Amino acid sequence: MANTAEQQRERFTNFTPYEMKKGEEYMSDDMLQHFKGLLLQWKQELMEEVDRTMHHMQEDAANYADPSDRATQEEEFSLELRTRDRERKLIKKIDKTIDRIDKDDYGFCDQCGVEIGTRRLEARPTATLCIDCKTLAEIREKQTGI
Ligand SMILES: [Zn+2]
Repeated sequence: MANTAEQQRERFTNFTPYEMKKGEEYMSDDMLQHFKGLLLQWKQELMEEVDRTMHHMQEDAANYADPSDRATQEEEFSLELRTRDRERKLIKKIDKTIDRIDKDDYGFCDQCGVEIGTRRLEARPTATLCIDCKTLAEIREKQTGI
């Protein structure tokens, strides 16, 4: 089971929800652009975060002479490195998603082909499964213990 910090990281909340126009088709050009903009903004924020972490680590690196301080610092660093690793993976996932938008292959469930839905995609723009398939996948994951 993913931890909560990771789950929160996979959410992006800083956006204006998309309002469908009357008679507008699901995943119209406007809608695709909306999600692309959202993903680009999210990626930007993540990259700034990675930058901040790196600077923070460089600044701190020289500041401790005491061995016990250094041990604590190493722990902190390894935690930050893990966070950065997660952020990098997420950025990769965002890039892949943007690529799918460009190929007009976005917003439908990879498993069953139904519309994933704008609200779900806004909560999780990198989602590739509809909520039903996702729930099923999670149940299977738990049963097989992977
Ligand atoms: Zn599905």
